[in-house]
Amino acid sequence: MTEYDVVVIGSGLGGLSAAALLARAGLHVAVVERNEHPGGYAQVFRRGPYLFDPAIHFTLDAGPRGFTPKMLAHLGVADRVRFVASDHTYRSFFPGLTVDAKRGRDAFLATHQELFPADADGLARLFRMRQDIFAQLAALPQKLGPDGLAAAMETAPLVFRHRMSSVEEVLAEYLRDTRTAAAVASIWPYVGSPPARMSFLLFNQMLESLHEGCYYAVGSFQTLVDALAAAVVENGGDVLLGGAATKILVRDGRAVGVEVAGDTILTARAVVSNADPQHTFGELLGWEHAGGVLRRRIGRYHLSPSAVALYGILRADPAELGLVHENFVFPSWDHGRTWSDLRAGRPGGIWVSVPTLLDPSLAATGEHLSVVTGLVPARADGSWRAVRDATAEEMLRTADGLVPGLRDAFEIVEIATPDTLHRYTNSTGGAIYGWENIPAQTASKRLAHRTPVDGLFLSGQWSEEGTSSLRVLTSGRATAALVAGDLGRPGAVPDLGGPSFLNQLRGDDR
Ligand SMILES: Cc1cc2nc3c(=O)[nH]c(=O)nc-3n(C[C@H](O)[C@H](O)[C@H](O)COP(=O)(O)OP(=O)(O)OC[C@H]3O[C@@H](n4cnc5c(N)ncnc54)[C@H](O)[C@@H]3O)c2cc1C
Repeated sequence: MTEYDVVVIGSGLGGLSAAALLARAGLHVAVVERNEHPGGYAQVFRRGPYLFDPAIHFTLDAGPRGFTPKMLAHLGVADRVRFVASDHTYRSFFPGLTVDAKRGRDAFLATHQELFPADADGLARLFRMRQDIFAQLAALPQKLGPDGLAAAMETAPLVFRHRMSSVEEVLAEYLRDTRTAAAVASIWPYVGSPPARMSFLLFNQMLESLHEGCYYAVGSFQTLVDALAAAVVENGGDVLLGGAATKILVRDGRAVGVEVAGDTILTARAVVSNADPQHTFGELLGWEHAGGVLRRRIGRYHLSPSAVALYGILRADPAELGLVHENFVFPSWDHGRTWSDLRAGRPGGIWVSVPTLLDPSLAATGEHLSVVTGLVPARADGSWRAVRDATAEEMLRTADGLVPGLRDAFEIVEIATPDTLHRYTNSTGGAIYGWENIPAQTASKRLAHRTPVDGLFLSGQWSEEGTSSLRVLTSGRATAALVAGDLGRPGAVPDLGGPSFLNQLRGDDR
């Protein structure tokens, strides 16, 4: 039996960030990971001279004053991760039109006004409203006081007005041409829900962060994983790989430790789970401890889609194909139709990444890697094996329809299906973003970090902050602050300011 202050189940970015901050706060921490390598979806894989990020193509808020560099500096590992920014946010290929979303809010607005002149005024009004939402969000306190809700509604009426709005509803108020709205909403595959379902507030925050810049970690996102794991170990903790947590131990209604691989016991004053809550509560804890209310709530949640991802070598010059670092290919202007196709099992919301445009070190000199990702229903039941190759071919054919020459230039090295993604992370159905990012399942409507069981916490994309590398890191910070407070070290985990664009609006330059 080994004694710790905190045991963290899972070494995804949401688990490792919580663990590293708690270790830095002086607590004795262990991370338990079932895989042989840390990182969850951020875990890199190598094929010969080629290094592939299986999931993360870019991160946000990683400029010099961004949240992630600040967190790494606090942990003493800032020199181990180097971020480079892309000049482009993305390029969208629609039938008959290419939309080049450049970095910066003004450039983004100008491009769309030029392409859709009939909606130029509507776009300007939309962008002013988006900025007002930010000013209102920035004016909101981090935590609401006793008269909080009423005061907050007065300070941030737009935020409250749109808290349940979909992207489609809001864009329809400002834009007359449905093609303008389809172009503005191009990023929906990053969030996993089409404009008719996606939370407008979430979309707005993501687009605002994208205006500031999208960043790649040179040498792959494994450098970020390794830096966080090193921060755990260098602050006296352990990262235990290759042994799954098999039980969360409970005594007198409180989580008191974790059983690993069915025999080893790690005692703890607090347990943090970075794993899928269905696994955490249903299998590791037992619903009898979690309670019926939570069980029913979890039973009502919708999963995000999963994905099929093709990892390949691009035997052509990306510029000649018209590709930038991130490219969406939409064979239809109607994202709703794409979503229906996707629900029926045909991959949709396809995007093509060329990571070597930002980091040539991932391949042999002069060669380019590419990853083609398509959303599919979350279903990891072994049935993808039979349709894997046909699905890959269909995705490449679809992409080739909008980016001619891509099919011939793309040499497949590896294919991941929902079964593969499930194997990587234990996520139900291979869901790539946790719960779907619809208004009823974002922010406070996701699961809280603090669970109904004393001493048991959640960190990662299934909990409050939600999906993406940045958000799970902020989730790790929020969870670590709660745990440190409970274990007698309030204030030992700094707030690190949250996403930096909000600080700029607050006039705060921490
Ligand atoms: C195809 C794809 C593309 C994406 N693209 C991007 C992108 O470009 N940019 C971006 O920011 N985000 C992207 N994302 C989202 C991002 O990868 C995730 O939001 C984030 O990595 C999730 O991190 P996490 O810490 O919540 O959990 P995970 O990465 O899911 O990690 C959970 C960990 O818990 C472990 N675990 C589970 N059960 C146990 C157990 N019983 N015992 C021990 N360990 C256990 C798992 O093995 C895993 O390591 C993408 C995701 C996918 C799949």
